[in-house]
Amino acid sequence: MGENKPMIVADNVVVSLDYTLMVDNQVIDSSRDTEPIEFLQGYGNIIPGLERELYGMKPGESKSIEVLPKDGYGERDPEAVIDIPRIEFPEDIPLQEGLELQMQNVDGDVLNAVILEVNGDNVKLDFNHPLAGRSLLFDVTVVALREATQEELEHGHVHSGDEDEEFEFSYGEEEFLGDIDEDETDEDDLLPSSPNGSL
Ligand code: ZN
Repeated sequence: MGENKPMIVADNVVVSLDYTLMVDNQVIDSSRDTEPIEFLQGYGNIIPGLERELYGMKPGESKSIEVLPKDGYGERDPEAVIDIPRIEFPEDIPLQEGLELQMQNVDGDVLNAVILEVNGDNVKLDFNHPLAGRSLLFDVTVVALREATQEELEHGHVHSGDEDEEFEFSYGEEEFLGDIDEDETDEDDLLPSSPNGSL
């Protein structure tokens, strides 16, 4: 590998980034109190609207970036809100509005949902990402840049220590496991699993 330190954010460069994420003027996530995130640029490891605006930035440079829903977590999908009969849930789950649940579909994929409403015999679940339909405002600072290793390039993501790092923005106390595949949010395919401990 070369000894040239990358000068600007470009494809195949590992970016160390400080960020603060605001929605409706509220800070909902920030790396400033922890440590910068590190990711491989150009591989879709962060949301597209953010990645695109980082090209050409230099270490030490800061920028405010507005990301519209289509370049962030997508628009809200009304079809990702579904009613599931109350009887399908284990009795020990305290079903109430606002409770975050993890559901597993028949393929074993874990989907995050929040209870919108408990209405008689039905529980209305929203499988949209909580940031779907929202405009995101990021204040970012490029902390450092480095060349990726060959292995990182082959994998398409950074390696920190010997752990593969998958980066997700957090919202509130929960980490999101990933995007919800709307095709899978068919109520017949869903099996409730335990609450994710947000009580
Ligand atoms: Zn890897």
